[in-house]
Amino acid sequence: MEEENLKISIAHLYPELLNLYGDIGNIITLKKRCEWRGIEVEFEEIHYGDKINEHDLYFIGGGQDKQQEDVADELFKNKWFLMGERDKGAVFLGICGGYQLFGHYYQPHDKPKLKGISLMDAYTVAGDKRFIGNVTARTDFLTPETLVGFENHSGLTYLEGETKPLARIETGNGNNGQDGFEGARYKNVFGTYLHGSFLPKNPHFADYLIELALKKRYGQNIELQELDDKIEKLTHNSLINKPY
Ligand code: GLN
Repeated sequence: MEEENLKISIAHLYPELLNLYGDIGNIITLKKRCEWRGIEVEFEEIHYGDKINEHDLYFIGGGQDKQQEDVADELFKNKWFLMGERDKGAVFLGICGGYQLFGHYYQPHDKPKLKGISLMDAYTVAGDKRFIGNVTARTDFLTPETLVGFENHSGLTYLEGETKPLARIETGNGNNGQDGFEGARYKNVFGTYLHGSFLPKNPHFADYLIELALKKRYGQNIELQELDDKIEKLTHNSLINKPY
């Protein structure tokens, strides 16, 4: 299929609440890497109280515990719809606080447990230490294999069942600072602790998500044309194993 006739629809969930450290940069990257290839993007911001419509890709950013508390009940109202979207192959990317709400629950310090939407088999409990610093992790499915970013969380995330880690930690703490893993994947649902924002520094992963969203929409593998990623690659490589 020619790229100029292609389209994907993207929803940004609760940007007014979960957008810590400029996580909007992930949306900008997805939009631009489609636009540069002539792929049309139907984009929708979903604000608190809005109906969530069907999309090919859903994004949710990170936030402090307070913003997570503000959004958790509203997100939970859409749990079954979003699980249905997951099972139809929709792509999800959650960053940090958004990632935590993709699991079964997030237990903050000294506050009631926040229900997650169980898109993946995981749970998060607040730790006693805040992990803040540069992260490098290595996947077994991307080229290049590396993912880089910045973490700032006290939540410790543990994966269960068929939910697998996104990458193996090389520098930093990742999910919980204990098991050596960062992020998670189940079906086309992805979570990561990497801010920065994440996708501008990892354009190869942005393209991977776009290809998954195209496959969900058109039911076939569509390989994206290469872009001139000189600057993006220099940025990515300059951050590999950057000191914590
Ligand atoms: N409030 C959560 C934590 O501290 C998530 C933080 C974030 O999104 N950066 O673990």
